[in-house]
Amino acid sequence: MEEYIIKYLEHIQSDRFDYEVKMVPCEVCGRMEFTVVREEISLGQGVYGKYPVQACNHCGFLMHNPRFEKTFYQDFYRKYYRRMTHHNTKPMHEFVENQVVRANNMIDYLKDYLPERGAVLDVGSSSGGFLIPFRDMGWDVYGNDPDKEHVEYGINELKLPIEFIDAEEMQLEPNSFDLIIIMGSLEHVYDPNIILKKCRQASKEGGLLVLEGRFRPLGLSKNFFNHNHHRYLRKTHIQLMMIKHGWQPFIATDDPVCGVNVQREGNGYCVGRAITIPTQSELDVVIEGGLKDVPSETIKEFDDFDAQIHLHTSKEIT
Ligand SMILES: [Zn+2]
Repeated sequence: MEEYIIKYLEHIQSDRFDYEVKMVPCEVCGRMEFTVVREEISLGQGVYGKYPVQACNHCGFLMHNPRFEKTFYQDFYRKYYRRMTHHNTKPMHEFVENQVVRANNMIDYLKDYLPERGAVLDVGSSSGGFLIPFRDMGWDVYGNDPDKEHVEYGINELKLPIEFIDAEEMQLEPNSFDLIIIMGSLEHVYDPNIILKKCRQASKEGGLLVLEGRFRPLGLSKNFFNHNHHRYLRKTHIQLMMIKHGWQPFIATDDPVCGVNVQREGNGYCVGRAITIPTQSELDVVIEGGLKDVPSETIKEFDDFDAQIHLHTSKEIT
């Protein structure tokens, strides 16, 4: 195991130092050639360290690579991450109120596309605040989340049908949802491809998928890139991920779809409609047709962001 990985595991107070670590293929196009975009990133608590972010040379997808084995990510979210963030979690009701506000804004934004009634799935729903306005409108609602405390709050206090489960393990009725939403959690999960595959099977034909990702940094890139995001769904790849799994995106925007929210500035949204799932070569045609990012341009983009911030900060000091 490389020195920097040992240091990282020490930083997160890992119980184990024998996780398998290896380079994995691009999660969008499956290729194996990458360019390093950043090495030093945020590891939380104001600590920065080596944890490489790489761009796929073929489609430009930004992801952490190498990756740990699956059990690491389970341990990370069930033990280490919780320990590290325990002191700054908001009270549950505030968090839920914020979700309800965001959901109402989203419903307003999508009103021309949503059926009057239907069934909605929220993958990574937390306590399920996004589902409340839908339930109030007479929709069937269902959510799931790997955070036990949040799920229990949703079930017991909000009386919502939420399941405590990793999204990769969810069992869904085929052809049953009019709307599926994944508000940011796809950047944290172990395998977004398994999840989107299951979602596509569970979506009705013509059903909608809404994804939220992080399009641009608000501060320095070393904070935008952090060890809690295993991939970055920016404007290009949030669309490619949808297309790959059989949704035709018709909105990809950094409009505040869920309302103006300081903490979520820089986020973007993609909305697509379920169509036929393309073959690998059909997906390649889309990428080669120009829906891709070029690693050297992405590096320059982030260098420019950083230079602007530095310029700003030095101006404030003088
Ligand atoms: Zn790729």
